[in-house]
Amino acid sequence: MSVLSRPYFHDEERAFEYLESVIWADGRVCPHCGGVDRITKVKANPAKRIRVGLWRCGDCKGQFTVKIGTVFEHARVPLHKVLQAVYLLTSSKKGISSHQLMRVLEITYKAAWFLAHRIREAMRSGDLAPFGGNGGIVEVDETFIGRKKGAPVKRAFHHKMKVLALVDRGTGKSRAMVVDNVSMQTLVPIVRENIARETHVMTDDANAYKYLAQDFDGHSIVRHGIGEYGRGPVHTNTIEGYFSIFKRGMRGVYQHCAERHLHRYLAEFDFRYCNREANGLNDADRTVRALEGIMGKRLMYRDSLAAA
Ligand SMILES: [Zn+2]
Repeated sequence: MSVLSRPYFHDEERAFEYLESVIWADGRVCPHCGGVDRITKVKANPAKRIRVGLWRCGDCKGQFTVKIGTVFEHARVPLHKVLQAVYLLTSSKKGISSHQLMRVLEITYKAAWFLAHRIREAMRSGDLAPFGGNGGIVEVDETFIGRKKGAPVKRAFHHKMKVLALVDRGTGKSRAMVVDNVSMQTLVPIVRENIARETHVMTDDANAYKYLAQDFDGHSIVRHGIGEYGRGPVHTNTIEGYFSIFKRGMRGVYQHCAERHLHRYLAEFDFRYCNREANGLNDADRTVRALEGIMGKRLMYRDSLAAA
């Protein structure tokens, strides 16, 4: 038996039951009126076009499925295939391309592309709590990837997309974001906002980080410029490991990512990094975590794709 032979990956009824067990872990709630007491199942009947997973609220007489109000609300792909996609995307270290999803799930490319972005939106962490604190160590670094649309290719990195990332060594979590440039004026406010003051920050000797000692309890610098790669605990190897997974994925799987979508791919890599095996999560836990994230993001998701 393989993981993918589980019934909810193949049977639509079981798929709804599975998603309901995650989303309604504390009980069913009517999305129309908030009622919880008089909810009854509506039996699926294809002849009368009654869908699988339908419920009826006795308080407001409204009908609903567990997908209402989630990023999957308007997904046309059957739920059991959606769950397969979630599993594949949360368990593949470097991600999975829309072309591969299309082939594996036997859906159109367009459906696969939209589905993957819905799942990335579910993976997006709403956690804004600062990293570090209590004397913890946070590594900070930036990297360059791909090419900004229309930007002429020059030497150095000016035509590339820029990403700033933090890794908290204490919690093993990462947080990455797209930045316009890597100047001190751009990076320092973001670093201040995302890291608690009582933190020991580790960076390389890039100019932008020069004065971070003013903002944090400690700041150690690895002098890459003179060929140094660390002195005991002073290193940025953790974050370089994060970037290497990210870059392998972006090169091998998501080759042509536009800058306006890059933040969603970063959310995907952050999700897998924060919920990786070393942090005590297995593939099944990751699937549940991603599914828990489908709530309450529908509007933001639609707005951001509409703007894309
Ligand atoms: Zn109701």
